[in-house]
Amino acid sequence: MGAMSFFGGFRLTLAHLTRPTVTVSYPQAKRPKQPRQHGRHVLNRYEDGMEKCIGCELCAGVCPVGCIYVRGKDNPDDPVSPGERYGYVYEINYLRCIHCDLCVEACPTQAITESKLFEFSFTNRADAIYTKAELVVDDAGEPRHLPWEDWREGESAMTGGWMRATSPAGAADFEGVTQWSAELGVGLREAEAGQSGPANPATGTKSLREAYYKHLSPADVPAERRGLAGMLTALRARTPRRRIKGAA
Ligand code: SF4
Ligand code: SF4
Repeated sequence: MGAMSFFGGFRLTLAHLTRPTVTVSYPQAKRPKQPRQHGRHVLNRYEDGMEKCIGCELCAGVCPVGCIYVRGKDNPDDPVSPGERYGYVYEINYLRCIHCDLCVEACPTQAITESKLFEFSFTNRADAIYTKAELVVDDAGEPRHLPWEDWREGESAMTGGWMRATSPAGAADFEGVTQWSAELGVGLREAEAGQSGPANPATGTKSLREAYYKHLSPADVPAERRGLAGMLTALRARTPRRRIKGAA
């Protein structure tokens, strides 16, 4: 009996040896970021290379922690932006930023958006204050990679993805309709699927109606998600490991 219980203790360990691995060796490997992940900001440029920032300071005004400092200046003869002014000084203090994205929402020109990168840290306070030299995208439209940032593929894609789901005044008629200008190196970014639109393969995002059916009114819930059948479908979706075991 004693020997049985001794070897019985290894049953769970042995069972796990044959199960699919669900962890990744972070930070050597990273999981793909969510489309709406808020990370390190970028200042975007138009396709002709001009900066989108017009130095209006709305982002600085709306920032709840006051970590943005902007000074606008009249454009010179060789203009930096298409507006009357441009962002002459632009700073974000990442020791304060809470990545709420209110600055992104307030910006009238989509000049400031966020990448997916959150793996960056500093050894002194000066490095935590990003200036235009770090924030403005390079000539290919890509975020500049700083020595203390751990960029991987896909982390500069879908910048500010969450804002590309919104429609003016929440009107469903405008969901999926682009309302922003093209960007240097990227062109016109795709709209994210809205609450009533279909999944958008370009953004890889399910429509919210598919993902959050529980929050819908009963009439809007898909037929396969209703009643007992719907409960079983949801249960199966939440327990992939059990299904694999059963199938084996
Ligand atoms: S994300 Fe929020 S906290 Fe960070 S700079 Fe923008 S408004 Fe300020
Ligand atoms: S980033 Fe946008 S909101 Fe901020 S100063 Fe530039 S144009 Fe204005």
